[in-house]
Formats: sequence, structure tokens, C-alpha cells
Amino acid sequence: MLIAFFYVSEVILVKILRVKPIYCEVVSRQKPLHDHQISELPVTLDDIFITVKTSKQFHSNRLGVIVSTWFTEAKNQTYFITDGADVELSHATNGHVVSSKCPAGHSLSALSCKLGVEYDTFMKSDKKWWCRFDDDNYVNVKLLVEFLREFNWRNDLYIGRRSRPEPFKGNFHGEPVDIDFTTGGAGVCISSPLAIKMKPWAASGEFLRTSQALGHADDCTLGFIIFNRLKVNPTESILFHSHMELLSDIHITTFREQITFSHRGKNIINITQNNTDTPVFDFKSDPTRFLSLHCHIVPTSQICKYAFNDS
Ligand code: UDP
Ligand code: MN
Repeated sequence: MLIAFFYVSEVILVKILRVKPIYCEVVSRQKPLHDHQISELPVTLDDIFITVKTSKQFHSNRLGVIVSTWFTEAKNQTYFITDGADVELSHATNGHVVSSKCPAGHSLSALSCKLGVEYDTFMKSDKKWWCRFDDDNYVNVKLLVEFLREFNWRNDLYIGRRSRPEPFKGNFHGEPVDIDFTTGGAGVCISSPLAIKMKPWAASGEFLRTSQALGHADDCTLGFIIFNRLKVNPTESILFHSHMELLSDIHITTFREQITFSHRGKNIINITQNNTDTPVFDFKSDPTRFLSLHCHIVPTSQICKYAFNDS
């Protein structure tokens, strides 16, 4: 009977949540869940704080797409962390632009400085979850909420897509350390109790210092703090996608089940008039395919009125 229960639970985890039940958080969250849920309302969009890392150079092309698609689904919850003022962007997002003092550039310091500001911005909120994305991510907002609702936010949770199958060796202040992390470019969600525990290594500029002492990028540093310092294993979900994957491998019949997507150059999702009845934009107007994707996921969205349907 007990075995049957665990078997069914595992099937549910794998089939519905698409998380791999190899880590203790995934298993243990089934136990205390009910204690809190009896007296607590389920997590809603308003319990989630979303940050998007960006750079002035990407405001017009990458953010234009986000602001006219998934941002419309979470405009009160989403903040853009950037490196330069932009009146138009501030206006379009109702002031949800945080102009960090971080330098522009793809260096470890520039990116980790910005992730530190993403963290500090979340910490000023009182939300239950912090989800962070890159500016080349598409987020299925409704599904993200439904997904997080299945977890107990009071537990220490670090959810995303693993970068490497196994932890690897690194050095922190010259000491050998094990590192495990999820890909920043696929999006990452962290429960607030865990975010609070990250403070000594992440708050008010410490994130950058931790990253420099580790000599690894921002997403890796996040994983190091959580996995190595705080001894919390990542919870993997294969519903988060970065452009490290071949995005055309994701089948359109499953698009509505995925939480994040990405794009990079020719590595884009496959959505054309041949494989969907929902409004599709041509490649010139929609090189990332995110406009067409958005109309596949939220067909009633304003932007879908402008699809040309001639791709
Ligand atoms: N980024 C940044 N400053 C830069 C370059 C990149 O803040 O000068 C941000 C970018 O906006 C994105 C993330 O870092 O959110 C990853 O950048 P990108 O997608 O260009 O490269 P990747 O690391 O994915 O190869
Ligand atoms: Mn990228």
C-alpha cells in the first residue's frame, strides 16, 4: 500500500510537474505540504516576484518582444534590471526598470553585479517566490503560477534546468568546493525562505564578491551559494528551456506545457503556419518566434491582431 502510494506520487511528479524526484526536496515537500495548505490560500501570481536581467543594448530588440508578449500577463510582478536609463522602457513598463550601477558587458563581474541587484530587488519585496529570467526568455506566466502552486514555498526550493548532469569541482577562496547549478538562461525560481538564507553571500554587493572568489558566472554562483554553502539540492524541471538546447526539438504539441523558452540566432522554436492554427507572424517581424508563440499560448492577446499569417 505504502509502496503503491510512493509509486503513484512519483508518477505524478514526473508526468505532471516534470520534475525529477531524485532530490530530497521533491520528496519531502509532499509531507509538510498539507499542514500549511489547510490554512493557506494557494500561491497566486501576486506571490511571485519576477526579475529579468537585461542591458541597454537589448532594450529595443529583446525587451520590445517581452513587453508586448508575456510581460502583459505579469506587468505588476515583473522588473527589468538593466545598466542604463531608458525613459521609453520605464514608461512602457509603468516604471518597472531598475537602473543598476553595474557595467554593461558580458563579463563575470558585469553579470554577477546585475544578478546581485536582481536579488536585492526581490529582497525588498515580501513575495513567496523569486523567479529570474534572461531577456531572451519567454515565460508562460499562467503555467508558472500553476507549477509553483504544487510546491510548498515554505521549504528551501531552487528550481530550474540543470546545466550539468553532475556536480563539478571548483575553488572558493582557494579551497576546493563542489558546485551544482541550474542554467540561468532557462530561468530559475527560488522560494523566499531559501533566498533569505542566501543573504551572507548575496546581499548588497556580496553576490559579486562571491562570484569573483569562485571565478564562475552568475548562475553558477547562485548554485554554489545554494548547493555548497546552504546544502540545498537543485530541483530540476525539464519544462524550463535555454538556448543551450536545440529549441526546434520541442514539439509544438507540447508548447503549452512548457514554462520557459529561449532563442539565439538561428536556434529558435519551430512555429509556422504549417503547424498551428493560431495567429503566426512572418520571420521578419518575428525572428525570435516569441510573438507567434505568445499567440499560440494566449491567442486573445492584443498583439495577435497584427499577425500577418503569411509566414
Ligand atoms: N547581458 C547583460 N549585459 C551584457 C550582455 C548580456 O546584462 O552586456 C545579459 C542579457 O541581457 C541576458 C543575459 O545577460 O539577460 C545573457 O546574455 P546573452 O543572452 O546575450 O548571452 P548568453 O549568456 O545567453 O550566451
Ligand atoms: Mn542568452
